Amino acid sequence: MVKKSKSRISQKKKTQSKKIIKKVKAAIANPTKIKAKEKKKVEKKLPAKKVAKVKEKKEEIQKTLYMLTAEEMKQINELLTRPIVRQTLIDVGGENALAIIRNFDRALSDEEIAKRLKLKISDVRATLNSLHSEGLVMYDRYKDNETGWYSYSWWLNKERIFKWVEEKTKKFSVAASSNGSEHYVCPFCGVSTIVDFSNAMDKNFRCDICGKPLEYLDEELMQKLGIVETKTFVRVLK
Ligand SMILES: [Zn+2]
Repeated sequence: MVKKSKSRISQKKKTQSKKIIKKVKAAIANPTKIKAKEKKKVEKKLPAKKVAKVKEKKEEIQKTLYMLTAEEMKQINELLTRPIVRQTLIDVGGENALAIIRNFDRALSDEEIAKRLKLKISDVRATLNSLHSEGLVMYDRYKDNETGWYSYSWWLNKERIFKWVEEKTKKFSVAASSNGSEHYVCPFCGVSTIVDFSNAMDKNFRCDICGKPLEYLDEELMQKLGIVETKTFVRVLK
């Protein structure tokens, strides 16, 4: 009995060692097998490189896709010379809003904008987020596969800016004061500056935006600015 089991164990050991020897011999005889394994490792790294290339291409496409023509940039610059537009944008996006909007010539990362304008990246992000809440800028988000961090590519929503300015400056209503329909306006900055008498007095009859004197809003001026008066509202016609 004892002998039998002993021989069984030794038999098992023998077959095991035979297998190992076979493997070693095979490895020596056929080194390509090892190379194939190494190759696999290299191949595993390739997709990441490919992904990076695709990402690069995507970003390149985006840059061209959201590129502004010289004519478009001129139009936006013209828009930004209007005091009412400047003031409204600063109200929305803070003091850097104008510089950031004017700076867009294509899709840009927040880092690029900060670098170009020599601003703090946190300030740039704050302004971009405020402008985004009005739909004036948009972004695409990319994930960096290596770091797991997200990067953002921002672009100017040209169509929206023009519509938004129109909305802000034309579609405007002011509750009439209790003492009737006496209103004042800055004829240069337009309808968004309409105030009633007491508000005009608080402002020393000066425009908040450009500092020029406010003028009494008579029928002639109303017609000029496209305004109709109703019982309780001064309404601006589109
Ligand atoms: Zn004004």
